[in-house]
Formats: sequence, structure tokens, C-alpha cells
Amino acid sequence: MPATLHLQPEREKSVLRRHPWIFSKGIARVEGKAAIGETVAVRAADGRFLGWAAYSPESQIRARIWSLDEQAVIDQAFFEQKLRQADALRQHLLLRQQTTGYRLVAAESDGLPGITIDRYGPYLVLQLLSAGAEYHRQTLVAALQMLYPDCLIYERSDADVRHKEGLKPVKGPLVGAAPAAPVAIDELGLKLLVDIENGHKTGFYLDQRDNRAIAADYCTGGRVLNCFSYTGGFGLAALRGGASEVVNVDASEGALELARHSLALNPQLDASRAQFLKADVFKLLRWYRERGEQFDTIILDPPKFADSKAQLMGACRGYKDINMLAMQLLKPGGTLLTFSCSGLMPSDLFQKIVADAALDAGRDAQILRFLRQSEDHPVAIHYPEGLYLKGLVLRVL
Ligand code: SAH
Repeated sequence: MPATLHLQPEREKSVLRRHPWIFSKGIARVEGKAAIGETVAVRAADGRFLGWAAYSPESQIRARIWSLDEQAVIDQAFFEQKLRQADALRQHLLLRQQTTGYRLVAAESDGLPGITIDRYGPYLVLQLLSAGAEYHRQTLVAALQMLYPDCLIYERSDADVRHKEGLKPVKGPLVGAAPAAPVAIDELGLKLLVDIENGHKTGFYLDQRDNRAIAADYCTGGRVLNCFSYTGGFGLAALRGGASEVVNVDASEGALELARHSLALNPQLDASRAQFLKADVFKLLRWYRERGEQFDTIILDPPKFADSKAQLMGACRGYKDINMLAMQLLKPGGTLLTFSCSGLMPSDLFQKIVADAALDAGRDAQILRFLRQSEDHPVAIHYPEGLYLKGLVLRVL
């Protein structure tokens, strides 16, 4: 008999609204014994069945719903069915976007809480971030092998958030060997190198694919500054768009090194137009300002400045600072593509910070486009937390 979580009165509402999380304070009592990650039944205060969920005794998010169907069994067939659904969405997308790198499963937003799966050519990279995901690792791998018999599977469950679930970081090959070298993916005619073993997230910022394509349209012939370049995705897009010069800036020498190698894989691009600078963006922007340097297009894609609500104020200052400096460096009529990938930063607050930055910079600006994460990172309609990446394209006057 699976254990049962009995909710406090009124706490069934969010489950009935199909939100996948049950917080510890919403639980009245646990009936029976459940191991970490095991499937439990969830019932309302009146005893009504609500769903099957993964139990996470260490986390504030005490359970994550797998299914609202009382007949459902959380087994290999369940995961295969969810994977097929996720795959169908991506097939539609792959027809339009020529890419061999995409997010196959976007966790909660694909009905698989805590489970992220990215595809890079022959590799599937698995990231398990919840107790329930961890519990079903073997089953999930078996389901993946059934659907993708030729794929190699590598695990990158080495994110810090696992600690909140009482889990240790894990990484390594699950099926086949670890890649001997960075893996090249194709994206809209470009080759991009991905460091599956040690890169950020599962190796690459797949969520910026649509925005890389858009950025190329604003880099026709001018001087481009690509801040927080990581492995140079936006920089390559800028060269493809026709930029006369692209300066890629990042604090990580390893990321810049991979960016140089990626560029070398694209002989159709004029490599002499690209520079790779190891620098602190905050300092470099000030240095450029002192020297009176100007750019036609600036891309600002910083790391998450806020990991918790407590850090949000500091994050706002950071965003405002770099946006102000970037606007000051733009030629009149220049373009700023500015992003925030922190899920804790609401879109309207981000826009307000950018507006304040324009005031401080003494510049006027127009929003040309509102940007979001790519389509293979969908947002489940009942899980608004799934939206984390937002950006603006601004014409700075
Ligand atoms: N734009 C990238 C992703 C950026 S991730 C892409 O599309 O792939 C954030 C990057 O910012 C990381 O590579 C990190 O090394 C870099 N970084 C963080 N703080 C920095 C700083 N103060 N100055 C320069 N780079 C920084």
C-alpha cells in the first residue's frame, strides 16, 4: 500500500488547479511510510483522491504531482508515454528550426517534475533535480533506451538545488561512454560546441536559440559587443548576421576557449572579425565608457543574479548598472538585447529596471520586441514558474 498525504483543508485548491507542487505547510498528516522519492497518494481533507505524487521529505516542496488520474501507475510505461508526448512537441519544432540540440523534456512544464533532458546530437543529457526524479532514475533510463535505442545517455545532476531535496550532486555516463571531446551541434547553419561534462546547466544555453536567430537580424554590418558570451553562441549569430566586428566578453577562460574552437568549425564566417576578451563585464563597460568607445549592438545575457528572494534587491542593482552602461555605449539608434534568466525576476520588474537604467543613462529608448525562452522550453499554463528567461530588444535613441 502506498503511503497517503492528507492535505489541510482548502489546500486541495492548487492541486485542482493542476499546479504540481505541494508545500510542507499544506500537509495535515502522512499515513503510512514513504521512502524519499517514493510515489504517494494525495488526498484532500475530506478524503477525496487528488493525485499521485513523489514524496520529498527533506524539501519545502514536500511532494510533486506525477498524475491526477487515480488509475495511473508511475512505472516505465508512464515515463514512456510522457516522453512520447514531449517528443511530439519537439518534432513539430524541429521541422521549422534546423537544430540537433534541443530540450526534450522541460521538467514540470512537460509533466515530469524535476526531470530535464537535453539532446545534443547522439547524446541525451539527463538532469534529475527532485527526490522523485532520483527515485525513478533506472526506470527513466530504461524508458529512454526503449524510445532512443541509439542514444548515449549522460547524467548532469550536479546542480546545487539538489541539496534542498536531500540529494548529493551526481554526474557521469549512464549509457555508453562520456564524450571524449566537446560535442558539436548544428543550429540554423552554425556549428556550436557543447561541453556536456563540465559546461553550464547540461552544457549549453538551448533556451536562447530563438533569441540568437533574432539577434543576428540586429547585427547587420555594425560593431557588436557580446557581454557574458559563455561559449559564444550570440557572437557566432552576430557574425552570421553580418557584423563587422564582434567582441565576446566573459570571465571564464574555458568558455572563451570553447568559443574560439566553435568559431573555427564555421569556415563560412570571417574569424578575423571576432575578438574574445577575458574580463569582468562591469569593469569593462566602464573602461569602454572612459575611452569613448561606441557600439551598434550590445547583447547583455548575464548569469542569474538572484537565486533567492533575499538576493533580488542586489540583482536589481546589478541589472540596472549593466543596462545603464550598455546604453551609454550605444550609438544613437543602436540596439540593446538585454536578458534576465532569473525566474525570481518578474517580466514587469525587469522592464522597469531597464527603464530606470535608460533614465540614468540619459537616453530614450523603444522596445522593439519582448523575448522569451525558446519553444522547446514551454511553460505549462498552470505552472507560471516555468517562465524564467525574458528579454527585450531596445532601440536606444
Ligand atoms: N550568453 C551565453 C550565456 C551566458 S551565461 C549564451 O548565450 O550561451 C553567463 C556567463 O557570464 C558565464 O559564461 C559566466 O562565466 C559569465 N560571467 C559571470 N559573471 C561575469 C562577469 N562579472 N563578467 C564577465 N563574465 C561573467
